[in-house]
Amino acid sequence: MIIHMDIIFVIIIYIIVGLCIGSFAGAVAWRLHERKDFVSDRSECEHCHHKLSVLDLIPVFSWVFLAGRCRYCKKPIGMSALAVELFGAVAFVASYLAWPFGFDNWLPIGLFVLWLVAVVFMAILFVYDLRWKLLPDRVTFPLIILGGLFFVGKQILLGTPLASWPLELILGLLPVAGLYMVLYVVSHGKWVGLGDVKFGILIGLVLSWQSGLVALFLANLIGSAYILPQLALGNMKRSTKVPFGPFLIIATVIAFLWGREVIDWYTRLLSVGSL
Ligand SMILES: [Zn+2]
Repeated sequence: MIIHMDIIFVIIIYIIVGLCIGSFAGAVAWRLHERKDFVSDRSECEHCHHKLSVLDLIPVFSWVFLAGRCRYCKKPIGMSALAVELFGAVAFVASYLAWPFGFDNWLPIGLFVLWLVAVVFMAILFVYDLRWKLLPDRVTFPLIILGGLFFVGKQILLGTPLASWPLELILGLLPVAGLYMVLYVVSHGKWVGLGDVKFGILIGLVLSWQSGLVALFLANLIGSAYILPQLALGNMKRSTKVPFGPFLIIATVIAFLWGREVIDWYTRLLSVGSL
């Protein structure tokens, strides 16, 4: 019973920290976009520019209690603030519960910390792309560096011989970064943006090539599940530009944490189908 309570307590901590991370990511994205100072400028309402108080910044609760509106001018705040807070909370708690490498010694624990930092950067990208339909270099480049460190740590943890590292890297980059690069060149940047290609590099560094394929498949699945009903209901036109980054980011987190399970499930499905 005591162990049980401990786990619940830890989960609650991860949810709270994740919510705050999501809220922080929203603020960072806005500062990046407005080119504001990171330390001295306080968050403000984008309509009436009223400085926000601590009360206005409590994740989810402030959004729910104010019904998604500014407390001062009553104009809508937008769903992106809520979406990124929920992304942060779910990604943090899921990372803890489904962490694939264990917590046995400093190396997997170090990788866990690196991954959580990457989740913070992904949360910034998530909300930035939702709002301004762009994955800025100032976030994707640090993510690629984090991904590089993660790659090295992961190969050491898995005991991959040094001679096989380049092959692991190339295989990892093929499913998303490689495919997106081809699509980018063929379509002259119409189908995918260069930001998606750069995010694909992170996927290649952090995920196995198998999980990379899962991420690619899930991103399209989630994207279709979001877009098709809205097209059918007439809320969206075929020409509406939908940012793909958020789908890709959600898919990456799922594929990283549960890629193995998805592949196992799929192979079992195939073997049952062939009986
Ligand atoms: Zn306002």
